[in-house]
Amino acid sequence: MSNADIIALTSKHVANTYGRFPVAIVRGEGTRVWDADGKEYLDFVSGLAVCNLGHCHPKIVAAIREQAGKLIHVSNLYHIETQSGLAKLLTENSFADRVFFCNSGAEANEAALKLSRKFFSDRGANRFRIVSMEQSFHGRTFAALAATGQKKYQSGFEPLLERFVYAPFNDIEAAKRVVDDSTAAVMVEPIQGEGGVNVPSPNYLKELKEVCKKAGALLIFDEVQVGMGRTGTLFAYENYGAAPDIMTLAKGLAGGVAIGAMLATDEVASSFVPGTHASTFGGNPLATAAGIAAVTTMINDGVLDNCKRVGAYLEGKLNALKSKYGFIKEVRGKGLILGMELAEGIKGGEIVKECLAKGLLINCVGDKVLRFIPALIVTEKEVDEMLGILEPVLSSAGNDKKKG
Ligand SMILES: *Cc1c(COP(=O)(O)O)cnc(C)c1O
Repeated sequence: MSNADIIALTSKHVANTYGRFPVAIVRGEGTRVWDADGKEYLDFVSGLAVCNLGHCHPKIVAAIREQAGKLIHVSNLYHIETQSGLAKLLTENSFADRVFFCNSGAEANEAALKLSRKFFSDRGANRFRIVSMEQSFHGRTFAALAATGQKKYQSGFEPLLERFVYAPFNDIEAAKRVVDDSTAAVMVEPIQGEGGVNVPSPNYLKELKEVCKKAGALLIFDEVQVGMGRTGTLFAYENYGAAPDIMTLAKGLAGGVAIGAMLATDEVASSFVPGTHASTFGGNPLATAAGIAAVTTMINDGVLDNCKRVGAYLEGKLNALKSKYGFIKEVRGKGLILGMELAEGIKGGEIVKECLAKGLLINCVGDKVLRFIPALIVTEKEVDEMLGILEPVLSSAGNDKKKG
């Protein structure tokens, strides 16, 4: 089938929830993908920070192949070898003691929010409020949506779940004002992804942890996007010297296979007992086998070092563009999640379309922040190739603005 064939079928039969680009990607390898008409693209989107090891990494493919021939699904009525193995890996490499597995980021956040309420219910405490941040993104299910501090996602779905309140991100004084003895949990992304690659000041998360501790509230880090090596450490919180009580993971956890996970300390996790929460597909053999392959590859194959080194290289190059073009307002991020904020009047969406036509996939959040989230195995050479496509597009967008 060609791009046109696939687009025609999608338009006719698939729910119209995405404004899609007019290409169908049918194959991928490393940092490259190909569309149905055979055109090649350099991929700096990585399935939205999912394919952190690149497309079809040989170790992920081998793990999936092997597990698919052995056992794909069995149910959590029984013990699952790969599920226990992935839980061991995640807890040995984080603050957490226990893992609940599910299938997406939103589901992981639902589990975290339910666990927070259950934790205080078990203690007979009247603590129901969830504090989250403005410009946050936590997913599209009802509780995750209520926690998402952006009106554009909530609009049309009211009434929202009760007792969700918001504070501005990276504002510790505001957090002190809203977090009190009615707060069950504070949910925050260590770096906001969908909100525009917003990086907190170095002490913010540490201070937020203190605020929670003082009020007796739990702290949840949503690392669905910035976990799994994205910032150059396995988990983003490692950069900020503050561990949460609960952490959620999904996107990069299983090399592209759908998975979600909620990690917690023993003290908090003990509020989940048989019957309190569940997921049919959660922790299934196929997804967790892919997860084990992804985590071990990330830890053992120099992926984190590559992310740090190439991330710094890309950040330097983007800052050089900022010095050159006045319409680039700011470059920010950590490791290989970097954002370039454009001045008013420069249309990020148009830049993304131009790049696509020239064989480069990049992404833009909120039409004004270009987001760079390549695979963590990307090379300096590929960064140069990306910039070779991006810079002429940027400079002509700047010229168009001048002409008005
Ligand atoms: C993508 C994302 C989610 C939602 O994940 P889904 O798998 O789409 O449900 C939640 N939190 C953050 C920070 C995300 O980036």
